Amino acid sequence: MAANKKLLMLPGDGIGPEVMGEVKRVIGWMDKRRTVSFDIQEELVGGSCYDANGVSITDETVADAMSVDAVLLGAVGGPKWDNVAREHRPEAGLLRLRKEMDLFANLRPALVFDALAEASSLKLDLVKGLDMLIIRELTSGVYFGQPRGIEELPDGSRRALDTQLYTDAEVQRVARVAFELARKRSNKVTSVEKANVMETGVFWRQEVTKVHEADYKDVELGHMYADNCAMQLVRYPKQFDVIVTDNLFGDILSDCAAMLTGSLGMLPSASLGAPDESGRRKAMYEPVHGSAPDIAGQEKANPLAMILSYAMMLRYSFDLDEDADLVEAAVKNVLASGLRTGDIMQPGMTAVSTEAMGKAVTAELDKLAA
Ligand code: NAD
Repeated sequence: MAANKKLLMLPGDGIGPEVMGEVKRVIGWMDKRRTVSFDIQEELVGGSCYDANGVSITDETVADAMSVDAVLLGAVGGPKWDNVAREHRPEAGLLRLRKEMDLFANLRPALVFDALAEASSLKLDLVKGLDMLIIRELTSGVYFGQPRGIEELPDGSRRALDTQLYTDAEVQRVARVAFELARKRSNKVTSVEKANVMETGVFWRQEVTKVHEADYKDVELGHMYADNCAMQLVRYPKQFDVIVTDNLFGDILSDCAAMLTGSLGMLPSASLGAPDESGRRKAMYEPVHGSAPDIAGQEKANPLAMILSYAMMLRYSFDLDEDADLVEAAVKNVLASGLRTGDIMQPGMTAVSTEAMGKAVTAELDKLAA
């Protein structure tokens, strides 16, 4: 048995605890059947934490998140907390966690399972077999740059200002993440900016190229303007392996790529921080979807995005590629067998509950490991 890995579980609100329950089922299976086991600590975050503690995350939980090997988060929020003061809103806990852990690289895979390829808004042959990864810089750029604001001018007119600002270190560290991950995939990075019209675009391209020349010449590097990238994503998405881009373009392009795959309930994500002396990165894994209050407590939630987020954790925080492959293969087979939660239901398929979907994944793991 490998040494125990420390895992902080934050199920959160709404369907968060329901989908996390199915990850626990998969972890239980792995504990019993495979070589890896986790020391799991579970805490409150979001509205449930506010109800218990008057804050959406406690200082102790933030400290725990900083010290564990990985954080797994469900989702936060819901109408129950709509009138809570802004600083105590469920989302504030999540933002604090991301900020204090300095999670600067957001990873959003767009992976199309064959069985769901028809759910995409694009033609089947364009998306079948699609497997790409968008890496978005998450802690800098125009969403954070100063100065910013709306001001009145002496002549009575008004103007608004945001600042797109990047340092060389900020670009270089996210470029490194892209190159490292490309090496684990198809070894190709497309760096995306607007070097034709923005100084920060010229700078982004220079810094990514610098890192490439110095340490990653074995990885294929291409550059693309963001507007062209948006077009290429819907024209021929399979040309991409890893895309690395800034906070603003990444926000837009990752949502666009997400829709290629069909459903929110299928989309995992990871956010990574800088490596420490031992090479360990702070990391948080969470599904892209929210707390889905409209279906919470009804056993209707699709747990696969959460289970796939767990698979990303195995791959990126623990280098357990074989176990991650196994979980992903189990998900693929369950979908191929025709089981569907409501969000991905198609004619002729079998409707199942959250729990039944999780149980089907572990049953498939049994078969795959037999
Ligand atoms: P949402 O993602 O929660 O739901 C959007 C729609 O998709 C809903 O109809 C929902 O039923 C459906 N859906 C989402 N996940 C699903 C799943 N796993 N299985 C089946 N169907 C699923 O987004 P929203 O409705 O805009 O937001 C609801 C709450 O979640 C809000 O309070 C919002 O602030 C919060 N939110 C949290 C996060 C997060 O925790 N990271 C992200 C987005 C939204």
